[in-house]
Amino acid sequence: MFGVVGIPVTAVAIRAVALGVRFLAFHNEQSAGYAASAYGYLTGRPGVFLTVSGPGCVHGLAGLSNAAANTWPAVMISGSCDQADFGKGDFQELDQMAAVKPFVKHAAKATHVTQIPRLVREVLGAAVAGRPGGCYLDLPADVLHQTIPESEAARVLSDAENPRFQEIRYEGSLDIEKAVSLLRHAERPLLVFGKGAAFARAENSLKKLIETTGIPFLPTPMGKGLMPDTHALAATAARSLAIGRCDVALVVGARLNWLLHFGEPPRWSKDVKFILVDISKEEIDLRKPYLGLEGDARRVLDLINEEVKDDPFCLGRSHPWVEAISKKAKENVAKMEAQLAKDVVPFNFLTPMRIIRDAILAEGSPAPILVSEGANTMDVGRAVLVQNEPRTRLDAGTWGTMGVGLGYCIAAAVASPGRLVVAVEGDSGFGFSAMEVETLVRYQLPVVVIVFNNGGVYGGDRRSTDEITGPYKNDPAPTSFVPGAAYHTLMEAFGGKGYAVGTPQELKYALAESFSARKPAVINIIVDPYAGAESGRLQHKN
Ligand code: ADP
Repeated sequence: MFGVVGIPVTAVAIRAVALGVRFLAFHNEQSAGYAASAYGYLTGRPGVFLTVSGPGCVHGLAGLSNAAANTWPAVMISGSCDQADFGKGDFQELDQMAAVKPFVKHAAKATHVTQIPRLVREVLGAAVAGRPGGCYLDLPADVLHQTIPESEAARVLSDAENPRFQEIRYEGSLDIEKAVSLLRHAERPLLVFGKGAAFARAENSLKKLIETTGIPFLPTPMGKGLMPDTHALAATAARSLAIGRCDVALVVGARLNWLLHFGEPPRWSKDVKFILVDISKEEIDLRKPYLGLEGDARRVLDLINEEVKDDPFCLGRSHPWVEAISKKAKENVAKMEAQLAKDVVPFNFLTPMRIIRDAILAEGSPAPILVSEGANTMDVGRAVLVQNEPRTRLDAGTWGTMGVGLGYCIAAAVASPGRLVVAVEGDSGFGFSAMEVETLVRYQLPVVVIVFNNGGVYGGDRRSTDEITGPYKNDPAPTSFVPGAAYHTLMEAFGGKGYAVGTPQELKYALAESFSARKPAVINIIVDPYAGAESGRLQHKN
């Protein structure tokens, strides 16, 4: 359980710990909510976060909405004001059931203590049933103070044993034969997979399909690692060619949303036939693919593998489509490596990213879990950092949520005890939840936070002279922060390790020392403020 204690839930957290629940106490409910949603994604079990009433619940909405946007299972439990005083202007009064409504699959309010066990079951079950998402449980202060005899408590606990929601629903007809026939007869097939496939733990099934059929594949940003980025059939470095020319695309656990250009021309061919595998009927109905396969990604892929096994086919390395993708990918990788090979000081984004990539790869297996956010930092990191193991990348996600970094780090460290967690953050992304570095120190989590410090959002003050006018022209630009901020000392304030680095040698030393120490650290990389682009790769949207 992640959360922030206060009226009326402090005793809930203390009792939870006494009963064997790990409670990670945060500074802000927003970060606790982000942590819970990422924990749900990484473990397949809903992450739970606890908030106080009113404003605490409102801060927590950030976590619930992030869970909804990413389709990750999470449950927010909030205290709320006394039922008898609601409507009179009570302390932290809010209609919390109404406030959470746009962001949840299911919300429940306990009006009596005897309902709590059943409702806890209900929200936990609903969060993982079908398409995962956020759920909410409201616990009014008066309910938290009610008592019942122990015998009645035992009865309500045992009554709650029968959940109303099943863990995963399989339904919808599956035309596996048609899917395989489409792939078999395609000239330029492509396999695309996303974080829904990662959530389904479909990596072995994907590997089998790719290696028996020889179909090139493209992961979405968080799908990276389900298949190694370094695999010969990876089309990541030939993305435009792969999506622009494929004639049949099997899309598994990834929405045809903005991240995949809505599956529309000009980025995709107008004749492409989509086979969409998704747990959500709603998603399939929305996209109207050529063929929809509603079900759990791993189960559907296993059925496809079975069908292929009966009459195997394989494109082979010399297939013109495989060759075209492989050639393009090699060319693009060579271009990128030529850029990366240079040691540019003052640092651009590429030089430190290459050094970080090499340090992460040197860790071997299990690979560190990477957390990434920011505009340029995340864009460059996505292209340069290598994911070879599943669920090792957490980033701003479907909603482009900035400020998720520290919460995700804490979730990752708790979900995989002992595993190194490395955050690669822009200074702006880091700032949203920087106080949670204290949480890292308090729990002694093995998290190294690397801040690309370029003095602001996109890189500080980038205004042209004709934009610097008006009565407040001497104020700092809306995009700028204090230049050269000593973010590493924030970590040192709590007894963690801080590093300020400006050269390749300094960065290599800081990475080597902090990775082997496996203790909380912040590495503050001073980056040239003019190195990045405004809005990163999404300039057309700003
Ligand atoms: P990405 O950001 O990687 O493209 P999205 O979040 O857009 O991924 O899409 C994930 C999709 O996976 C969602 O539409 C969700 O319904 C679906 N999904 C979630 N769990 C499963 C599962 N077990 N099997 C198949 N699909 C799933």
